[in-house]
Amino acid sequence: MYSEDEQKSLLQITARLKNSENLTVFDISELRSVLRFHDWRYYAMNDPLITDYDYDVLFQKLKQLELSYPDQIIPDSPTQRVAKGLTENFETVPHLASMLSLENTYNELEVKDFERRVLDMTTNSKIEFCVEPKFDGASIALVYENDLLVRAATRGDGTIGEDITNNARAISSIPLSAPFSKFGIRKIELRGEVIIRKDVFEQKNKERIEKGEKEFQNPRNTASGSLRMKDSYEVGRRGLEAVLYHVSFAVNESGEDLIGKKLIAHFDNIKMLHECGFKTPIHEMKVCLSTNEVDAFLQEWNEKRYSFPIETDGMVIKLNDIRQQIQCGSTAHHPRWAVAYKFQAKQAHSKLLAVEFQVGRTGAITPVAKIEPVALSGVTISSISLHNEEIIKTKDIRIGDTVIVERAGEVIPYIIGSVESLRDGTEKQIYFPKECPSCQSPLIKPEEEAVWRCENADCPAQLEERIIHYVSKDAMDIDGLGRQIVIDFINLGLLKNIEGIYELQYDVIGKMEGWGAKSVANLKDGIESSKARPLWRLLTALGIRHVGVGTAKDLAKHISAVFELSEKTEEQLVEIEGIGPKVARSIFQFFNTALNLHLLRSLEAFGVNIKNRPEDSNTKSSKLAGKSFLFTGTLNSFSRDRAKQLVEENGGKLLSGVSANLNYLIAGADAGSKLAKAQKIDTISIITEEEFLKMIS
Ligand code: AMP
Ligand code: ZN
Repeated sequence: MYSEDEQKSLLQITARLKNSENLTVFDISELRSVLRFHDWRYYAMNDPLITDYDYDVLFQKLKQLELSYPDQIIPDSPTQRVAKGLTENFETVPHLASMLSLENTYNELEVKDFERRVLDMTTNSKIEFCVEPKFDGASIALVYENDLLVRAATRGDGTIGEDITNNARAISSIPLSAPFSKFGIRKIELRGEVIIRKDVFEQKNKERIEKGEKEFQNPRNTASGSLRMKDSYEVGRRGLEAVLYHVSFAVNESGEDLIGKKLIAHFDNIKMLHECGFKTPIHEMKVCLSTNEVDAFLQEWNEKRYSFPIETDGMVIKLNDIRQQIQCGSTAHHPRWAVAYKFQAKQAHSKLLAVEFQVGRTGAITPVAKIEPVALSGVTISSISLHNEEIIKTKDIRIGDTVIVERAGEVIPYIIGSVESLRDGTEKQIYFPKECPSCQSPLIKPEEEAVWRCENADCPAQLEERIIHYVSKDAMDIDGLGRQIVIDFINLGLLKNIEGIYELQYDVIGKMEGWGAKSVANLKDGIESSKARPLWRLLTALGIRHVGVGTAKDLAKHISAVFELSEKTEEQLVEIEGIGPKVARSIFQFFNTALNLHLLRSLEAFGVNIKNRPEDSNTKSSKLAGKSFLFTGTLNSFSRDRAKQLVEENGGKLLSGVSANLNYLIAGADAGSKLAKAQKIDTISIITEEEFLKMIS
């Protein structure tokens, strides 16, 4: 899609746009081009060239310009993804070509069968197979006309689907426009799968468990459910992506059908989609010249699928030659030119030894099954979450039961159920506790929630989890203070609360077994550097219910320091983009609880950053963007620290020495060698404090 040269020039334009402080209406088109380019790098290439932060800066600049020039807004602008209002009813729409199922095969012999059948149906004696993953999500059909996305539909009954265009537009990996005209195509229909990556799915579920919401069952259901939500803004926040794997219809300017004429190889079609900016299986698909080669590739994927970031339930074997596909045709149910090879779900039997009830950081109680260790596709499994009371009841699982453990595509295995016929009468029913296993407070379960909870703020188990959460990678990211160390420190009485992290007695720790000078130094380093983390990390680390990384970032953008949140009403919180009423309530409660404010004050006193610093999020102004500064001599109007802060707040960059990269040297009284050096480089402007202040006023 982009040549080397084009990419280079787009990167240069990116830099200019990012650094320029006064963009005009004439920059709108370039802003869009670079945003589309970076979308492509991110989604289609899996290889972004700029940070999320820089992307956001460019995005905001475009948004601002479009606000000033609303008549310049075009439907495929990157800012126009989310539709206003809710979709009450999804209209039905006919597909341009019907969306069929796939015939299933389970072993290599059947692949040979498939070959025999297609040889019968086609005129050629040579067959190229194209083999690719079968993505486990919700199928979708996209129509582009004159390079614009004009429609997206669900599969429906295969002939007629539901129009979900607004929701598809909210999915960032679906380009709002794509250069099909370059390929002589005026109108095209694409097939693909809307999926949630395994890691995103797990993250979303983790958040849901903490909120006491029902967990999503699996990525597939989540994807298809999310596609039909009424609020496309919510769809955009679900972490959905679309993988495109088929061209089902294509015509040129004069309406001539191109399938099997100009478009003659499946692999080339996918390559074209890749080049047009779509996420495709291009790197996972293989053209095979024999069934042996197909088999080898299927075997490879039998294991590979576990480490593949997207859930797959098999592989699809297609004829690569589209003219042969046409010769084979379809039944009413499935095309004759493709078969799905289904992976066997890996299952094993084991014995349920016990159920432990774990207390999460917000008091949520999770039942965890302890089973006799069993190996399943390369990992040994000995403990499996049973999620909630409901699941134990509906599956009628008992202690002592032989249970079936399954690992399908998922990373996390689960218990399908018990083998009733193997019971001998000694099995014991599982009783969900009425009291917290850690502090014995009565457990509480609100009507609409699935999860029992301990609501005691001083519950030791919760405290442990809260500290573990505070130091975790997504939160304060404290190196050297992992889960087990936190638990050990708590048990030894070295750590009693979150603020205690900053009061650890290193001399005592240094004398403990297993702790050398170096590991103590590492620990101290990790803890010290956590003090300088951006505000969103602190907001995540506090473990406010319903506030994960995403929400924490949204929040941090809207405040200049953490205590501002204790002054906001629920109504004001809801006005922040990305914060719904439920989240607002929970933030409000957190910041109106004396204990929490006390914790924050202690953290502040220990030097933990509680401010929204310009380098962490949007700068306050971009007056100094793209310019570099250095201060020298004695400053009269402000301190050195304040000077640095002013530069950063206004988007400028601080340098530590005089070099050709320096734009401005602010020279105070008695400036010495730096001034002398700067005077020799004529691209450096030497200015006074007053002149500097004028630049930012
Ligand atoms: P099934 O519903 O099990 O009969 O399988 C057919 C479905 O597999 C199609 O409707 C697609 O949604 C889905 N699918 C996933 N990956 C692919 C792929 N690479 N090629 C074709 N279909 C796929
Ligand atoms: Zn408790």
